[in-house]
Amino acid sequence: MTQQVPSRELFDQVMVPNYAPGAIIPVRGEGSRVWDQEGREYVDLAGGIAVTCLGHCHPELVKALTGQANKLWHLSNVMTNEPAIRLAKTLCDLTFAERVFFANSGGEANEAAFKLARRYAWEHFGPEKHEIISFKNSFHGRTLFTVSVGGQQKYLEGFEPAPAGIHHADYNDLGSVKALVSKEKTCAVVVEPIQGEAGVMPGDAEFLRGLRQLCDENNALLVFDEVQTGVGRTGHLYAYESYGVVPDILSTAKGLGGGFPVAAMLTTAKIAASLGIGTHGSTYGGNPLACSVAQAVLDTVSRPEVLSGVAKRSERLRSGMQQIGEQYGIFSEVRGAGLLLGGVLTEKWLGRSKDFLKAGLEEGVMILAAGNDVVRLAPSLIIPESDIDEALRRFERAVEKLTK
Ligand SMILES: *Cc1c(COP(=O)(O)O)cnc(C)c1O
Repeated sequence: MTQQVPSRELFDQVMVPNYAPGAIIPVRGEGSRVWDQEGREYVDLAGGIAVTCLGHCHPELVKALTGQANKLWHLSNVMTNEPAIRLAKTLCDLTFAERVFFANSGGEANEAAFKLARRYAWEHFGPEKHEIISFKNSFHGRTLFTVSVGGQQKYLEGFEPAPAGIHHADYNDLGSVKALVSKEKTCAVVVEPIQGEAGVMPGDAEFLRGLRQLCDENNALLVFDEVQTGVGRTGHLYAYESYGVVPDILSTAKGLGGGFPVAAMLTTAKIAASLGIGTHGSTYGGNPLACSVAQAVLDTVSRPEVLSGVAKRSERLRSGMQQIGEQYGIFSEVRGAGLLLGGVLTEKWLGRSKDFLKAGLEEGVMILAAGNDVVRLAPSLIIPESDIDEALRRFERAVEKLTK
């Protein structure tokens, strides 16, 4: 077989057309810098969608991965392994959790969370109590169950019938939840503390506390999807800490592996008991390579100086974005928390978030969109402040060209 250089053209010839990746192909990364096939360099404010929380090729993560790569790769859940047990213990020590289930992606961690919520209600209250309340515009993954719980109808189009018993309330509107919740039927309320894909929309503390109370009153479980907000992203290890609201089940993925696929569902011992032997599983879940990398991620991110550094970097990035937003009239608001920030496009620029991505790439800065109306940033939690400044300079050049 002849060797063909992997190119964007070849992508279109061999891939299912569900993605529309950018024109360049990155081949190498170090810290918050990335280089493409042509040797062009970029500052990365996208972080692989809030995933590479310690930048690219962090020495501690490389050490953890290569160290484990020379020991043991896989056993399946017919055997357990040291990295998985160690990582579960760390997650229990650092959070409300008493029990952990490992998966490979956010969607899969949520799938486990939703199945557990149903199974727990079924076991304790009976089959009638199976309804899940979620929120409009929410995002929970792409499996059929998680896309059905998600609040974006377009992602279900052509894939129906969806699983039954799912309702969508309005985010930050407790009244809309009260109208749907019932002791007889509701098994869980599922919420992102900050809606990521929907446009970096922060939840009000009062709203999230109200959900906790409604769940308690109705014997329903509160599920926090922290796939995007977790692992230091908001300046807390998990966002729930900053709201003073403790969920019953929490899903974590994206940043957990810092770029290696791994996810987890956290819960209490009492609730976990409803996933007894044989009720659920995953071949790769708890894989030693994944757990070794996640261990190094948590050991690093949970350091106080890393978490407090997020607040400092957030302020620098936010004020830079605000200034560019005002100067060029592109943002009505910069919202979010920590290093999950969204520049909300002004009326004139609505629908054009992807144009900013493209313009940014041309000037050497990687940014993200959240929908069509929000420019999203989710850089490394330890991005050097000089890289933030350089990224802002490049972004400003991109905006200057685009708005000319
Ligand atoms: C990205 C994301 C998911 C899905 O994670 P995958 O790893 O793509 O399956 C679920 N929930 C939220 C809040 C996310 O941001």
